[in-house]
Amino acid sequence: MLQELFNKLEHYYDEMVEIRRFLHQHPELSFQEYNTAQFIQEYYEKLGIEVRGNVGGNGVVAKIYGSKPGKTVALRADFDALPIQDEKDVPYKSLVPGVMHACGHDGHTATLLVLAKALNEIKEKLQGNYVLIHQHAEEYAPGGAVTMIEDGCLEGVDVIFGTHLWASETTGTIQYRTGPIMAAADRFEIEIQGKGGHGAQPHKTKDAIVTASQLVLNLQQIVSRKVNPVDAAVVTIGSFTAENAFNVIADKAKLSGTVRTFNEDVRQFIEEEMEKIIHGTCYMSGSTYQYTFERGYPAVVNHATETEFLITAAKEVPEVISIEESEPQMGGEDFAYYLQKVPGTFFFTGAKPAGVETSYPHHHPKFDIEEKAMLIAAKTLGSAAINTHNE
Ligand code: MN
Repeated sequence: MLQELFNKLEHYYDEMVEIRRFLHQHPELSFQEYNTAQFIQEYYEKLGIEVRGNVGGNGVVAKIYGSKPGKTVALRADFDALPIQDEKDVPYKSLVPGVMHACGHDGHTATLLVLAKALNEIKEKLQGNYVLIHQHAEEYAPGGAVTMIEDGCLEGVDVIFGTHLWASETTGTIQYRTGPIMAAADRFEIEIQGKGGHGAQPHKTKDAIVTASQLVLNLQQIVSRKVNPVDAAVVTIGSFTAENAFNVIADKAKLSGTVRTFNEDVRQFIEEEMEKIIHGTCYMSGSTYQYTFERGYPAVVNHATETEFLITAAKEVPEVISIEESEPQMGGEDFAYYLQKVPGTFFFTGAKPAGVETSYPHHHPKFDIEEKAMLIAAKTLGSAAINTHNE
C-alpha cells in the first residue's frame, strides 16, 4: 500500500511543483491569506474531499476517511508568506511587491495537498482517518495554531506530524529529535526615559543613550553569567532607537529584542533577571523605564514514541539518504501548540537547492528550496501516517 502511495506521489509530482510555483508567485502575509485559503479549499472541493474553511481564521481543515478502523492522524502544513521583496531571478518569482514565500510554506502546502490527493485515491485500503490541517499565520505571533485548535482542528486526532522544508540541509536528509527541537521565541521592549538637554551641558541631563548603551552590555550577562551553561538561551537586542539632533542629549531611548529558550523555568528566569538589570541600570542614571516582555510561541517539544514512528517511516522512503538527529534550533514554530494537545513530532526535510555549496537562509530575499524535497516530505509524512497504524 505504501508503494502504491509512493507511485501516486511520483505521478503527481509535476502538479506539486505547479502548485508550489503558483503559490510562490501569489504570496500573502500572515492573517491576510484569503486567496491562498480559498485555493486550498477549492482544491479539496474539486476532489470531493470533506473540507472546512475559516477554521480559527483563515485556516482550512480537510478530512479523509479510511475504510477500516484505526487512529486519526493529523498532518499539518502552514501557508503564510513574509514581508520580504523577492530578489530571485526565476520564472516563478513573487508577483507581489514586498511579499515573498521566503520560508518554504508554499512548498509545505503543495506537499500536503498532493499527499491528500494520493491518500484519497487509496482510501478504500486505508485504516483510520487523516486530518489535513492547513494553517494560516505561522510567521506572526500569536499565530494561527491556537485559534485553529480552539475551533476544533484537533478533535478526535490521536497523533500529529509536521515537517519544515529545511534549505540548509542536503536534499535527502531527514532530521528528527525527541524532546525540544525548536525554541520558545519571546519578544521584549524597553523604553528608557531620561532627561534631555543641550549637548554641551551633560551635567544637567540624564542621557538616555548612555543608559541604554549600558543596558545593552549589562543584558549580555544574563546568558553568560546567570543562566546555567548547560541550558541553551539567547538574549538578542535587535533594535536601538534614540533619534536626536547631533548636539542634543537624548531624552528617550528604546530597545527591543528577542529571547529564545527551550526550558520553561529558564524562560521565566530570564524575564525576571532582565527586569532586575533594567531596574539597576536605570537607577544608576536616575532614569525611569517601561519594560514589556511578550511571550511568543513556546518551545516545540517532540514526543518520543512518535519520533520513533517517524524514523521507521523515513527508512521506507528510497530518496531518504540520511536520517540524522537534529540539533535544537533557536527558531520558533507554533507547531508547539499542537504538541501540547496531542502526541506527535515535528521534523526537518532537507531542501538545499541542487548545485549550491551554501543555500540562502530562510527569510532571505533570495531564499529558495529544492523542489524534489517536497516529494520526499510527502513520502515521509505519508509513510509516518500509514505506519502509525501498524504499531
Ligand atoms: Mn517557517
